[in-house]
Amino acid sequence: MKPHEHAAAFGTLDGELRLGGMPLSRLAARVGSTPFFAYDRGILDARVDLLRAALPSRVELSYAMKANPMPAVVQHLATRVDRIDVASALEMQAALDSTIRPERVSFAGPGKAPAEIRQAVAAGIIVEVESTTEIKRVIAAGDELGVTPRIAIRVNPDFAVKGSGMRMGGGPQQFGIDAEQVPDVLKHYASAGLDILGFHIFAGSQNLNAEIIAEAQRRTVDLVSELAEYLPTPVRYLNLGGGFGIPYTEKDRPLDLEAVAAGLHALIDGPIAERLPEATPVVELGRYLVGECGVYVTRVLDRKVSRGKTYLVVDGGMHHQLAASGNFGQAIRRNYPLIVGNRADTPVDENATVVGCLCTPLDLLGDDVELPLAEIDDLIVIFQQGAYGLTASPTAFLGHPAPAEVLV
Ligand SMILES: *Cc1c(COP(=O)(O)O)cnc(C)c1O
Repeated sequence: MKPHEHAAAFGTLDGELRLGGMPLSRLAARVGSTPFFAYDRGILDARVDLLRAALPSRVELSYAMKANPMPAVVQHLATRVDRIDVASALEMQAALDSTIRPERVSFAGPGKAPAEIRQAVAAGIIVEVESTTEIKRVIAAGDELGVTPRIAIRVNPDFAVKGSGMRMGGGPQQFGIDAEQVPDVLKHYASAGLDILGFHIFAGSQNLNAEIIAEAQRRTVDLVSELAEYLPTPVRYLNLGGGFGIPYTEKDRPLDLEAVAAGLHALIDGPIAERLPEATPVVELGRYLVGECGVYVTRVLDRKVSRGKTYLVVDGGMHHQLAASGNFGQAIRRNYPLIVGNRADTPVDENATVVGCLCTPLDLLGDDVELPLAEIDDLIVIFQQGAYGLTASPTAFLGHPAPAEVLV
């Protein structure tokens, strides 16, 4: 998708990008400083509505908070999704501070410390165990607290998903218990005083291929149907993961959500109805929910020409948005979509390279981008920044101030 297509999703007002119903420069004046992240709740709500309309009603939506843990975003989603998935004690606290009920919170991720597990068990959160060590810690916490812990087994599947930006299942992994070990583990811990709700399989992130996602979900249901025989109770929780991607580069096409939904309908009417009738299927999404509602806004501090190449130096950079610089798991760096936000309706008339204010050539936000002529104090807007932005970036690097974040 091209930058202007992303801009069209927000719309323009007085020749500027519209954010939260106002022209960008007015929002920037209200925020009071650049750079900043803005998350547009209209776009966020539209994304939830799109998912609800497409996915079978039996499928529950979980928000994977690590994509964007800003408390206002978390609370906004807490009233709109069915569940929240957390991956640390701080995220757990943010979920517990929202209006979501604790039994609707799940806790995944390798290396859960005994204190974190105890906190989750005490709150009644679903602990998605990633190893037998974690199972022992959960049992110990339950004994100590006098409660029955609710858990799900995170399984490292015996298949891998192609086409993901980051693969998180299949082969050797630090995530989950290897599928072939799960039967023995379940036999061993069947009467250990745990309420084992079901399984969680998350195979990868940032996938734009609906067919591959649907295939992973089919194989997940097959695998869980086999593992279900070793569970003392029926499977009630069937976390299918997610990994739905969003288009970052010009050649990326948006995910065909209808095709993913068709696959889920078929699974629910077929193997889930036959073999897992009591299971609630859960799709767990971070990036797809929040990625597109967010922009990163920076101000042009300098405009210079070096040996024929025009540079726009902005007051933000990779310390706030590591992924846009290409340093967050991309094999090949490609430009994220960006525009001059206060000249959203002005035609392009130069090629400029947008760099951040850090003292490293890695701090590249847009290489040789077609833009209208930008001047000092103009506002450069990068799209698709609602997920894995601020909290996935090395903010301490070079000691610049932290950016503001606003939900508008
Ligand atoms: C990171 C993560 C997610 C979210 O992934 P996205 O690609 O952002 O949707 C979901 N589940 C688990 C277990 C994760 O670790």
